Amino acid sequence: MNWNGVVQVIAGAGALLLAASIPASAQGIPPAAPARAASGSPLNDPPPIAREARGWLADLIKINTSNPPGNEQLAAMYVAGVLQKEGIKPEMLDLAPGRSAVVARLRSSVVPDPSKSLLLVAHLDVVPVDKGRWTVDPFGAVIKDGYMYGRGAIDDKGMLAANLAVFIGLKRTNAHLNRDVIFLATADEEQSADASIRMLIAKYWDKFAAGFAINEGGNVFLKNGKVQYIGVQASEKVAVNVAVIARGTSGHASQPTKDNPVVHLAGAITKIGTYSAPVHFTAIVRRYFEGIAPLEDDEIAKWIRSVDTPDRGEHAQRVVSDASPLWNAMLRDTIAPTVLSAGVANNVIPAEARANLNVRLLPGDSIGTVVNDLNKLVNDPAVRLEVQPNAGLAAPPSSLESDFYNLICRVASKEFDGAPALPFQSTWLTDSAQLRLHNVQAYGLVPFPLTQEDLRRMHGDDERIPLVAFDKGVGVLTKIVTEFAVTRY
Ligand SMILES: [Zn+2]
Repeated sequence: MNWNGVVQVIAGAGALLLAASIPASAQGIPPAAPARAASGSPLNDPPPIAREARGWLADLIKINTSNPPGNEQLAAMYVAGVLQKEGIKPEMLDLAPGRSAVVARLRSSVVPDPSKSLLLVAHLDVVPVDKGRWTVDPFGAVIKDGYMYGRGAIDDKGMLAANLAVFIGLKRTNAHLNRDVIFLATADEEQSADASIRMLIAKYWDKFAAGFAINEGGNVFLKNGKVQYIGVQASEKVAVNVAVIARGTSGHASQPTKDNPVVHLAGAITKIGTYSAPVHFTAIVRRYFEGIAPLEDDEIAKWIRSVDTPDRGEHAQRVVSDASPLWNAMLRDTIAPTVLSAGVANNVIPAEARANLNVRLLPGDSIGTVVNDLNKLVNDPAVRLEVQPNAGLAAPPSSLESDFYNLICRVASKEFDGAPALPFQSTWLTDSAQLRLHNVQAYGLVPFPLTQEDLRRMHGDDERIPLVAFDKGVGVLTKIVTEFAVTRY
């Protein structure tokens, strides 16, 4: 549906129906009062745009975009409504029935220069919830103890609401822009399937072609009440699924045979589960470890500094990998068994047993090499490994020398009391890989200072965002985007 379509639908016969399902602030009703706290505290008294952004975030959480199935169109229409009220003309980009992205642009000149344009990206969909394990309604945007709870509070509706605030703030100030700033809310990020950014680029690239982007992917890591460092994502690992298939002869369970595929599969998975792929350094990971060493205690710092030395390297890699699953995954390809399936009845030996391995490759590493190594390790003719379709593509890293990267690091570091900004290679996937494949210098920074404990809740139960962190993030992102948009580089 294009923008005109939205106007017609809202103003037409479906108005009542739609108005009922679109939250308050899209209908021109002021957002609900945010967190209660002691009077005069930042909780109670956020900057005006952050207060509005809290309302947008709450409304977005209330629109259930669990993917599958996604149903992002309603959230896209909500965002379009917020933008339209500011006199901005958004455009709906349809991808599949009920699934749309939305784009809008602040122009710097009559003839746009896509190579200079800056794209603000966030996704509309969220991962599903296990409702029974939540202590609050996951789609209620409940405010409790200074947090807003809800699926997507961080990933990625927090960033989406922050992007909206930055974009609308820029429009309201009427600043003279030296590059176009483009707002883009994508669909189907969590499943990367038929309505994802891959499709969006294939169908609508001209609508948001840009030289630079800021997206999720990096984080502001809070430890012991202080920002320890800012990880600016400039690269990401590549996901590939590999099936492990054991075959044997089906038969009566009362007379076990040696070729029972359940037993062969279990043996293979046990070996794979204890395997560590060799360490490979990418330029970004090398710089990350150089930067992180001085922030850690002396003992672990000593081993971090030794990871790439000929004499102590191997031992150091073991110590560092054991100290942190994140560090382990930054140093090597990882292989995680995730799904097991076998058997049709309790008294039948099945003919086949299968498992799925979720492999995360360092950019540049080959799945063929990993499969070869695993085949040698498993060493069982009854077991076969099969690379599954839809493997991710490795993208070139974004530059660590660009003006935008330097600006993000400088502003974020200043805003977070001098904490260092380090280049970051995420173990998780984002829309940025597809952008990088189209020559966009894309950087990941969710600008909210968050503890490990809060980061862990993304994709987990009781996802929540501290309201103070949200407000701070809106301010930091505003500074980064405004400076890059108005400065002549
Ligand atoms: Zn996300």
